[in-house]
Amino acid sequence: MGAQTRLLVIGPSALREAVARALPNCDVALAEHALAGVWRTGQETFDGVCLSLSHGQKTFRAIRSLREIRPNARIVVACGAADEPAARHALSQGADEYVLEPVQREDLERAFHLPPLHRLAMPPDTSRPTLREVVQLSGVLKQLGDGPAATLERLAELVRQAFGAAGVAVQLDGLTASAGDATTPVLEEIVVRQDKPVGRVALARKEEGTYAASVGTRLAEYARLIEVTVAQAREQARWRDLAWTDDLSGLRNRRYFEKVLAELVARASRQRLHLTILLFDIDDFKTYNDRCGHETGDELIREVARLLTLCSRDNDVVARYGGDEFGVILWDAEKPRVPGSQHPKEPIALAERFRGAIGEHDFKCLGADSPGPVTISGGLAAFPWNGKTPQELLAAADEALLAAKRSGKNRIQLAENTGTPPQSSD
Ligand code: GH3
Ligand code: MG
Repeated sequence: MGAQTRLLVIGPSALREAVARALPNCDVALAEHALAGVWRTGQETFDGVCLSLSHGQKTFRAIRSLREIRPNARIVVACGAADEPAARHALSQGADEYVLEPVQREDLERAFHLPPLHRLAMPPDTSRPTLREVVQLSGVLKQLGDGPAATLERLAELVRQAFGAAGVAVQLDGLTASAGDATTPVLEEIVVRQDKPVGRVALARKEEGTYAASVGTRLAEYARLIEVTVAQAREQARWRDLAWTDDLSGLRNRRYFEKVLAELVARASRQRLHLTILLFDIDDFKTYNDRCGHETGDELIREVARLLTLCSRDNDVVARYGGDEFGVILWDAEKPRVPGSQHPKEPIALAERFRGAIGEHDFKCLGADSPGPVTISGGLAAFPWNGKTPQELLAAADEALLAAKRSGKNRIQLAENTGTPPQSSD
């Protein structure tokens, strides 16, 4: 018989309660009268029946009927010590065992051939996740895109609630997360991947009461859940990173550039942060392709990308916008705009510094066939002077880039105001 055992008690409800208390993993039904019990055994399947001897002769008739109806069910008689002779008679009528009242867990386990409670791998009443945990887990899975660190934080809180712990601390692959007060762990489980320890999950004391004996087994299951879920988040992050990366240059691509621009423009509106975009394009790039070959053209794009990365600051978002065109978002959260401030000077200086760096760089990939020094033309557009939306800013920077090309190339052009001048509060 397994952990889901169904038992029927035929006798007073006090006996049912005693059996249910002693065997918390069993589903224990009650029939107060022998006849009702026999009838119910014919209607439903029970793994075992526990009969009180209090029904006298009817009990023996019931045992004989039960044996006929359910030849394989365990039939156990419960009786007081004084009734042991009657209990032994019950065995001759078809009962398998008798136990003395008040019933003891070990006696019942032996009589019903149940595995001892403390050796059960997963007691169902403590190991089954609640509906709330399942809903919470689906929330974690929905937000896997937020990355492994955020996922681990959410899992720590899920575990805390699942175990009713005052706090939970989780470590996995160099990441750490905690929920509640996890300073004094009382129980710990190792997180394993392919038989190697990769982290740990630790529970602080239970918020109310104490942990059940099965808590260790259950925590091991959650350790597995944490490993699998964070691995999935890592995998998603990897795919997303690929979707945002330009293969040729290794820079971020246009998709990423436009996504971050939209986010930063929304933030700039709220927090008054400095935000300027630079679009630039290699001058006469086709000539390099034509004279030195497409492969060399590719190498030139890669080299420009490397220089651009070297010249930019940590915050700047550097992307290959497409072809020989690049985009940079220059932004500074530290220095908020003040009312009446001017078009920021810093991005102009940065763009010029970058133009200078390209002009002076020795592009070895071009060799002796180089048609001349590599130059770029760029357009700068700043929020909110040249545009208050990503589209307005991109159009303004593009227009400035075209103007730079028209006026002889190898220059950085500031965008014209768009006709919607910034308010004094901008
Ligand atoms: P301009 O000074 O006006 O920018 O002239 P340009 O010759 O640079 O012309 P334009 O920017 O309009 O064209 C860019 C060329 O870059 C067109 C295309 O053949 C080439 N190109 C686009 N993508 C790649 C690439 O991935 N590798 C290489 N080698 N060439 C590319
Ligand atoms: Mg070009």
